[in-house]
Amino acid sequence: MKVEIIAIGDELLIGQTINTNAAWLGQEFSSRGYQISRALSIADDPQQIITALNTLLPTTNCVIITGGLGPTKDDLTKHTLAAYFNCELAIHEATLAQIEAFFESRNKPMLDVNVQQAALPTCAKILKNRRGTAAGMWFEKAEVIYISLPGVPYEMKTIMTEEAFPLIEQRFGKSALFHKTILTQGIGESFLAEQIKDWEDRVREAELSLAYLPSPGLVKLRLTSFKGKEEEPLILSFFQELQDRLPEAIFGEEEQTLAGVLGTLLLQRNASIGTVESCTAGLLANTIASVAGASAYYQGALLTYSNELKHRIAEVSLSALQQYGAVSEEVAKEMAANGKRILGVDYCLSTTGVAGPTGGTPEKPVGLVWIGLSGPKGTIAKSFRFGDNRQRNLDMTILSAMNWLRYQLVCD
Ligand code: ATP
Ligand code: MG
Repeated sequence: MKVEIIAIGDELLIGQTINTNAAWLGQEFSSRGYQISRALSIADDPQQIITALNTLLPTTNCVIITGGLGPTKDDLTKHTLAAYFNCELAIHEATLAQIEAFFESRNKPMLDVNVQQAALPTCAKILKNRRGTAAGMWFEKAEVIYISLPGVPYEMKTIMTEEAFPLIEQRFGKSALFHKTILTQGIGESFLAEQIKDWEDRVREAELSLAYLPSPGLVKLRLTSFKGKEEEPLILSFFQELQDRLPEAIFGEEEQTLAGVLGTLLLQRNASIGTVESCTAGLLANTIASVAGASAYYQGALLTYSNELKHRIAEVSLSALQQYGAVSEEVAKEMAANGKRILGVDYCLSTTGVAGPTGGTPEKPVGLVWIGLSGPKGTIAKSFRFGDNRQRNLDMTILSAMNWLRYQLVCD
């Protein structure tokens, strides 16, 4: 079932009101398994309303029209729709009674414009508005359903939820949409798409739908079945294949976080962790410790932003700092190895990098980050090249550090 939204209102076009109705309708329809194919915003103008109705997409089964029904706009939409669907307006007794009760309960005088709100197209099924005076209207023409609703968001939502969605589900059937999501770190969206092209083709052949949901450093992959939970095994087998192909990148599913997954692995191994941080300045510590119960494995941090403190607190050798500089493999390794000893932990992660946007040199450009990892098997460091946005670089650094250790733990 395909849906189009037509939002009427000059205020939407001049940016005075944000079209939150379209956003809400988009979420509500798609969570019920219906597809929104288009959302238009148009002016309070009969000609524009008619043009929009005359140029619907040929696949559309259901049109939601919001706005232009209040008492102040001379009921523009209502008159236009009555003419469009070839019928008259007549007082709808149940609506009139409800409007009267509405004013009585608020102890306010009822005006003639309010009475006029009960004059409704005779060819429409009327959808009750429990929270206001502008009723919703349901029209049908050539297999297409048109639902006209007031623009006031809470009135629109109430009519949709209480009156319209039950009728829509009766008409078009309840969809059995079923989603599952897996989480990847460290591979950009387009690079990932390139790597799993053949997998994606087979997902399409199996008539599942795939969505890439990217955020800095992370890409979520969501598979949707239109047949329902019965296809869970199919989705899980597709995910298992990805997991086998990209074990370094795939760290979890659904609402899991990297810090949470890492914490669980440490708990299972009864292992402790600490951090020695330069560029991230405690962000890694904060993220690891944001997991409830982190005290069972997280011991603490050395925050060594300056070279002096790298030397004094983390005992990084002056020769390494002088010879290679703070952002270097040697310093990252010394920070991690010394941190492991000083903090008395099983694993220690270190970060040192050029977060930017300034401070880069040709040899050490903005976005260069070294991450050190010291554990029972020894100490290694790895370099990363991120971009020129400071906050993103810091976010990418901590995600990369946690994911690197996660993968080491899984492999050990
Ligand atoms: P008026 O606009 O003069 O209040 P109207 O007859 O146009 O009267 P509606 O358009 O049904 O009445 O509702 C208007 C109210 O709803 C306004 O506060 C408007 O900002 C808000 N509104 C209208 N459309 C939307 C929308 N798409 N998203 C969010 N709010 C909206
Ligand atoms: Mg309006």
